Amino acid sequence: MDLSTSMRTDMCGQLTSADIGRTVTICGWVDRRREHGEHLAFIDLRDHTGVLQCVVDGSRDLRSEYVVRMTGEVRSRPEGTVNPDLATGDVEVDVNSVEILSQAEPPPFPMDERTGVDETIRLRHRYVDLRKSRMQRNLRTRAVVNSTIRAAMERQGFVEVETPMLIASTPEGARDFVVPSRKEPGSFYALPQSPQLFKQLCMVGGIDRYYQIARCLRDEDLRADRQFEFMQLDAEASFVSQEDVFEFISEAVADVAEAVTGDRPTEFPHITWAESMERFGNDKPDMRFGMELTELTPIFEGTEARVFQAECVKGICLEGGAESLSRNQVDSLVDDAKRWGAKGLAWMRVATGDDGRARLEAGVAKFLSADEGSAVIAALDARPGDMVFLVADARRMVQRVLGMLRLALGRPAVGEGGFKFVWVVDFPLFEGLGDDGKPIPAHHPFTMPHPDDMANFDAGGEALLDVRSQAYDLVLNGWELGSGSVRIHRNDIQSRIFDLLGISEEEAQAKFGFLLDAFRFGAPPHAGFAFGIDRLTALMVGEENIREVIAFPKTQSGADPLTNAPGPLDSAQLEELGLRVLPQAT
Ligand code: ASP
Repeated sequence: MDLSTSMRTDMCGQLTSADIGRTVTICGWVDRRREHGEHLAFIDLRDHTGVLQCVVDGSRDLRSEYVVRMTGEVRSRPEGTVNPDLATGDVEVDVNSVEILSQAEPPPFPMDERTGVDETIRLRHRYVDLRKSRMQRNLRTRAVVNSTIRAAMERQGFVEVETPMLIASTPEGARDFVVPSRKEPGSFYALPQSPQLFKQLCMVGGIDRYYQIARCLRDEDLRADRQFEFMQLDAEASFVSQEDVFEFISEAVADVAEAVTGDRPTEFPHITWAESMERFGNDKPDMRFGMELTELTPIFEGTEARVFQAECVKGICLEGGAESLSRNQVDSLVDDAKRWGAKGLAWMRVATGDDGRARLEAGVAKFLSADEGSAVIAALDARPGDMVFLVADARRMVQRVLGMLRLALGRPAVGEGGFKFVWVVDFPLFEGLGDDGKPIPAHHPFTMPHPDDMANFDAGGEALLDVRSQAYDLVLNGWELGSGSVRIHRNDIQSRIFDLLGISEEEAQAKFGFLLDAFRFGAPPHAGFAFGIDRLTALMVGEENIREVIAFPKTQSGADPLTNAPGPLDSAQLEELGLRVLPQAT
């Protein structure tokens, strides 16, 4: 792309031997200076396209990160100084005029990409950090992700509708950020945890296919894949089934992957929540590797071995683990399993017996009968040299612990193993029963129960835990990209859900009255989805931490070292808002 302006003719990273002989003017930051003989200096000049070697008069005071404009002739580098690692490594500019546009203090951290820098310092001087090629790549890729999503959604007939930031609470299960009202002291707006209720209102409003690249705000503990504020592709469509939603979203995500990597993913398999829990031990299966959880319960029915007398026994097999894992490592895995909630972790090495066949040894092997041992080997398809791990416990615990162990032992690094998408479907409607006996919704309370499970839904009580919902997640490489559901569009079912959740009619009216009112005026059946753009971009560029793909993120503790937010308000502002701050309990 031609990026020339009234101040420059070319970009630093774009000059090649084809430009030899041209007089060019370039602008940028001084990346590095090296003295060259007595009178000359090499300046590596940097802009977002790359760096270019410039030969200048050595008496000029040009320091790191000075912003300069240089004019000179492009020539080939003298033999022996060609740098094959650099796109512009064949050429240099013989500079005849230098203009300093801005002086700069020494940078707060080395600009060398390979030097690790404390994150707080990077964030305090984010404007300097952003000049590095990694951040340039990440932010520019993010822009491609956004524009590709927009194009894909619009091609499929979706209309971008903006929804407000100052609203009443949205029930996504996190804490709200709130904004005090000056006009009505004592009253507060909530910032949207998502545009959920507004997009449903758009459906009642006949928009038919809505999308928005929406900012969502949730006050919850931060992690590598979580920020207080994050961006979602938020979408909703009318007169659709969940299959239609899968198509719309898979299309957008495939476009993104193709735009960023050049490869278009074609496989978007489906797995039910129940199957995912059984095979992978969690609801966001990382399908880049095998090591699936194998059912061993029938083998241990009527077993003499006390450790395996449990509701459920499952195992995983680590290929070559008998050799690759030291005893210390095994002991620390056993400790991990206990920390994750298991009573213990049974392990055994697979060796070759005297009869030449695989047999289990060490660990708990002595408690197994010969038949049990060979059945375990056969079920896990274990070979001599492998290590097997078994957990016997309540089914949920077995799934949880072996699921975590599988990840700890086999999960590829973030940029490895390609992209494996999977739709997880048929989530339970409720996560469990709370201490008060009331069910806890697994998604938000506007999620439609599965049509085949309405009898259990009507029966109530424990039967509710067997009710599936029409909720689904899209998972990429073991990361939950996003969630969605078919919505309840009938007030009778919605009222019943509120009732089950212990939300009284008055409370429902006070909190979601506007949605319930809207449903009385002709609501089409509708369904939708939202996925996190920060996570998708991070995975696309191979970053573990979403902060690396956000221009100005908060630290893990929620602070912004750049602007010093959050900070106190002055007393006049508090007064105006009708607020008084209580002294901090120490
Ligand atoms: N609003 C939901 C969320 O942010 C997504 C959806 O159900 O469409 O997770």
